[in-house]
Amino acid sequence: MSLWPLLSFETKAIHVDHRPWTIELLIHLASSVGSRFLSLSETSSVDFGSSMLLSPIIFAAILLSYSSSYVAFAWGGFGHQTIAWIAQSYLLPATETAIRDALDSQLVDYMANASTWADSYRYTESGKFSRPFHYIDANDDPPTTCSVDYERDCGDDGCSVSAIVNYTSILSDSDSSPPLRKDAARFLIHFIGDLHQPLHDEALEGGGNGINVTYDGDETNLHHIWDTEIVEQLAAGASAEAFAKNLTVSIKAGEFDWDSTTWVKGASLNMTLATVMTWAREANGYVCTEVLKGGVDAVEEGDLSGKYYGAHFDVARVQLARAGFRLGAWLNLIVTGKMG
Ligand SMILES: [Zn+2]
Repeated sequence: MSLWPLLSFETKAIHVDHRPWTIELLIHLASSVGSRFLSLSETSSVDFGSSMLLSPIIFAAILLSYSSSYVAFAWGGFGHQTIAWIAQSYLLPATETAIRDALDSQLVDYMANASTWADSYRYTESGKFSRPFHYIDANDDPPTTCSVDYERDCGDDGCSVSAIVNYTSILSDSDSSPPLRKDAARFLIHFIGDLHQPLHDEALEGGGNGINVTYDGDETNLHHIWDTEIVEQLAAGASAEAFAKNLTVSIKAGEFDWDSTTWVKGASLNMTLATVMTWAREANGYVCTEVLKGGVDAVEEGDLSGKYYGAHFDVARVQLARAGFRLGAWLNLIVTGKMG
């Protein structure tokens, strides 16, 4: 069995589907070659047959390739890449130059490529300070009342809102060192995305992580389906770049009465906190009106890939579009003083 078709197939699968079987696959590969690098005994649901023979060097290369793919495309990676592609299409030439410079990247997908770094960095020793920056835990009471209060909800270790405020000022400051600018750029690309996922603005059950649901036959949790499954069902197999183009067309056409100019109304670097709080409150509001409209019990019943998806997918669609549009405008504002 040639390794390369297997590798390219699986790499593609990892890019479009971020489910735990990527880890199971690693475990399977490790156990199938009797590797001494890993001593894992779990069995895998993915079976490539018992005849696969790998030399230790090739195995190590595969392991490296898998682990870097996994790190680069962690949970929700597809949504972040989509948002980054939308934002990239709105960047002014001067902004593109400045962001490429900050990221030290000449890649075509320089924004999408940087968009998932924060989700792997948070699990490193040096990056653990950034864990609370991915959300703001609104201590409200959905579906009865939704609200975000910065003083009440941000927490002593910071939150998404304080992080966006802080990294905006770092990126705006021409005296910031290159490493700081690089982190500020990739943090902003990621956190402005996170802020638009309604359950990243909710404390209840750890933003829905503790609410068990079934989606397309799989047992998962409510937070996860809003991060990943709903977005992937929306994209229907398209790449993040193609899906972003589709959303950008919708933004420009004003689909469903989207008036994208209102999305950045009042956005100002003089009022960064107020601007970001407006976006956080808007996303949090959807927890009451859509995500948990029928309460926790309602989402714990049935398979949410059917009726629930049908009733609420448009929230995911508009929030991805808003996140991308606002991220582009925000970076333009930081670099040029104009939104676009
Ligand atoms: Zn995140």
